[in-house]
Parts: sequence; structure tokens; C-alpha cells
Amino acid sequence: MEYKSGKAKPRLADEVQLCAQALCLEEAFGVSIPEGYIYHAASHKRREVAFTPQLRRAVLEARDGVRELQRTQVLPPPAADERCQFCSLQDECEPFAPRDFPRSFDPFSTKLEEA
Ligand code: SF4
Repeated sequence: MEYKSGKAKPRLADEVQLCAQALCLEEAFGVSIPEGYIYHAASHKRREVAFTPQLRRAVLEARDGVRELQRTQVLPPPAADERCQFCSLQDECEPFAPRDFPRSFDPFSTKLEEA
């Protein structure tokens, strides 16, 4: 069970986080965990998250991405969008601090950049 302070809002990142915790527990205790739950305190709602093969694969891809960051020692730019609003790392990350961003960068935009 993962607790979130906000309202119920399905987000893949939350599901990947929960599934990652389950994978760690599965490995540590030699058990199988088919699903977990996310409780949204603001809306008093709990939703089930099935740990599908696709979600488990997303966790492993995220793990690989983190390992690549560790290997290259190159940090990506901060998200600097609505995701930062409730992020516990905001003080350390300083997502809106001036950096060497392109002139078109708008730190107050709430839209994700297109790839
Ligand atoms: S504050 Fe930093 S770590 Fe948190 S969501 Fe924003 S960019 Fe990501």
C-alpha cells in the first residue's frame, strides 16, 4: 500500500513506484505479490494496481535508466512542471532555479514538452 496525499488520479509513475516496492519485497522474502494498492488521502479513495508483466517491465526499464544515469553521471534537466508541486525533493532539486536552458524554456509552463 502506497499513500499519496493528493486526490485519486491514475499516474503511471505512481504505479511504477508501487510495483518497484513489490519487486523488492518479492526478492527479499521469496514471495509473489500480484497486486498492490494506492490510497489517495485527499479523496479517501483506494485503488488496486495489478502488477502486470508490462508494469514489471516498466520498473526494470526505469531501473536501467537510473543505472545509465549513474554510469554517465549526467543528470537530465528537471521536470519543472506540475509534477514538482508536491515533490518531496523540491528543496534539493530546485526545479525552477535558473539554469542553462534554451531561451524557449518556460519554467512555469504546465505542459509537457513534446519529444
Ligand atoms: S522537484 Fe525535481 S525531482 Fe521533483 S518532480 Fe520536480 S524535477 Fe523531479
